Amino acid sequence: MGRLFFVGGNWKCNGTSEEVKKIVSILNSAQVPSKDVVEIVVSPPFVFIPSVKSELKPEFHIAAQNCWVKKGGAFTGEISAEMLLNLGIPWVIVGHSERRALMNESNEFVGDKVAYALSQGLKVIACVGETLQEREAGTTMKVVAEQTKAIADKIKNWDNVVLAYEPVWAIGTGKVATPAQAQEVHAELRKWLETNIKAEVAAKTRIIYGGSVNGSNCKELAGQNDLDGFLVGGASLKPEFIDIIKAAE
Ligand code: PGA
Repeated sequence: MGRLFFVGGNWKCNGTSEEVKKIVSILNSAQVPSKDVVEIVVSPPFVFIPSVKSELKPEFHIAAQNCWVKKGGAFTGEISAEMLLNLGIPWVIVGHSERRALMNESNEFVGDKVAYALSQGLKVIACVGETLQEREAGTTMKVVAEQTKAIADKIKNWDNVVLAYEPVWAIGTGKVATPAQAQEVHAELRKWLETNIKAEVAAKTRIIYGGSVNGSNCKELAGQNDLDGFLVGGASLKPEFIDIIKAAE
């Protein structure tokens, strides 16, 4: 079953309005593969979303970097799923390791967020991944399976979920997983979906890789059987993001 290649650019907490304009103009002037070949999503900080959305060519879709765990209301500083939908934002990133680590988001909280965002009609990029300590202790699969289970426990339909495997030790470190390391975990995650959800979900769900992906390492990673795209941080702010998108071809 063909899974459409997916490339997400997570701009994190970066950029001034001038810098954002530059990134938008780089993206708009690029020749990217057609939408039958790759689905492209960029994730600006909340405050820049409306301008980026109105200026970017329609090949590029928008994801928020986070949203609140339930219906909006008296939650100072939060952004609700309803607001994202109201602005026509189709995607949201949930459970990024930076939020898990710095904002103490637990597996259960991430599962609740994924479920609520999906229930409102958002599509979700759900992130999982082990720390270096966990990898060295040989618990990589146990950790990512627990993170995935906490999501699976709360949702019934995986159609609008992209699962992002992002080893924490590879994020922002320049230390990318080898293609074999990435493929191993992606294959295990797919097997987990097959055993614990069902074969159809395992076959259809896109499992993308994130962690120090750049213009030079993307092609070999993209060649791995169970790797269906990328979630890119640092390199998504640079012209090489276009090369990463082209790894879909
Ligand atoms: P990086 O970040 O590409 O800068 O390593 C990836 C991510 O956090 O999604």
